[in-house]
Amino acid sequence: MIYLDNAATTKPKKEVIDVMMPFLTEQYGNPSAIYSFSAQNKTAIQKARKQVAELINAKENSIYFTSGGTEADNWALIKTAEAYEEKGRHIITTKIEHHAILHTCDYLEKRGFEITYLGVDNDGRISLEELKQAIRKDTILISVMFANNEVGTIQPIEQIGEIASEHGIVFHTDAVQAFGHVPIDVEAMHIDLLSASGHKIYGPKGVGCLYINNSLKISSLIHGGGQERARRAGTENVPGIVGFGHAAMLAKETLKERMEKETRLRDFFIKELFNRISDIKLNGCKENRLPNNINVSFPYVEGESMLIMLDMQEICASSGSACTAGSIDPSHVLVAMGLSSDEARESVRFTISDETTEEELRATVDAVETIVSRLRSMSPYYDN
Ligand code: PLP
Repeated sequence: MIYLDNAATTKPKKEVIDVMMPFLTEQYGNPSAIYSFSAQNKTAIQKARKQVAELINAKENSIYFTSGGTEADNWALIKTAEAYEEKGRHIITTKIEHHAILHTCDYLEKRGFEITYLGVDNDGRISLEELKQAIRKDTILISVMFANNEVGTIQPIEQIGEIASEHGIVFHTDAVQAFGHVPIDVEAMHIDLLSASGHKIYGPKGVGCLYINNSLKISSLIHGGGQERARRAGTENVPGIVGFGHAAMLAKETLKERMEKETRLRDFFIKELFNRISDIKLNGCKENRLPNNINVSFPYVEGESMLIMLDMQEICASSGSACTAGSIDPSHVLVAMGLSSDEARESVRFTISDETTEEELRATVDAVETIVSRLRSMSPYYDN
C-alpha cells in the first residue's frame, strides 16, 4: 500500500505505541485516586502536558487535554462567545475553515451571534486589510486556521495575532494541520487559543488539546468532575494523553529534518506530475504551504473516479469533495479560492509523511498518469 493521506490521519509511531502500552495494561489506575499506584498516572499526564507545551512555546498550565481537534474548536468558539457576549456578539472567521469551526459558527449564529466569513485569494490566503476592515466595536473573537487541511496554505498568523491584540480581540487558531509540522510560537504569534490533535502527528486518535492563554477566563465545555484543573471534566484518556505527549516531543526533535525532507519530496512530486501530465493545476500557495501537501486539479478527470482507481492499485489519497445524497458537493475551500465547481471536483489531495519515499511517489505518478489518460480518453469534452 502507498499511503498518501496523512492530512486525514497518520500512522502512529511504534515508539508512541510503546510508551502508551503500560497505560493500557498494568498502569490502569484512575489518575484522580489518592494511592501511589494512580499517582504515576498523574505524573505521566503532567509530563505529556509539558511535552505538548514545549512544542508551541506555551506555559505548561495553559494546555488542556481534550478528545481531539473538534472538541478543542467547539470549546474555543462557544466558550469565548459566551464569556465575552456582554462586550459584543460579532465573530470573524474564514470561508475555508474545517467543519469543526464552520458548523460551530452555524450553531452560534442560531444563538444570535453574528459571524463574518473572510474570503481568500487564489492561493487560499486571507487579506489582512479585509480583516482590519471587518473588525467592529462588538468583535469579540477572530478564529483563523493556521494551515488549511485541503490545500496546505499557511495563513499570516503572526500578523493576524498582532492585529487581534492591538484591538483587544481574542485570537483563536485551529492548528490541527500545522501543529508539529511547522514552527509555532504562541507567545511570538499573539495566539490566545490554539487547537491541536494527536492523530495528525503520528500519535493516537481521540486525543488533542486546547491551549488557553492564562489571561483568558473561559469556562468548561464539558461538565462533571474536577479533572484538568476543573476546566475539562471526565476521567483522563491516560494512554492517549501519554501517546500525544510523546508524539509532540518527537515532533519537536525532528521538526527541522522532517520539514526539509517533506518539502524536497513534495516539490519532486509536483515537478514529476507537471512533467508527465498536461493541463493540470496546483491548488494552494506555492510558498506558504505545508511541507506535506500536494493538491492538484486534473481537468476532465473526476477526483472521485481517480481516487477509486488509485485505490484499486492500493494507493490512498483523498479529495475535498463530499458525497451527499448521491451527488458530489465540490469542496468549500476550493470554491472559496475561486475554482469552478468542476475544477473543484477534479481535484485530488496527496499528503505525504516522514516515511514516504521517492519510489512511492514515482509509482504514484505512474499510476496517476495512466488513470488520467484513461479517464480523459473517455471524456466527450476532452480534445484527445
Ligand atoms: N481542524 C482541522 C483543520 C482538521 O484538519 C481536523 C481533522 O481533520 C480537525 C480540525 C478535527 O480534528 P480531530 O480529528 O482531532 O477531531
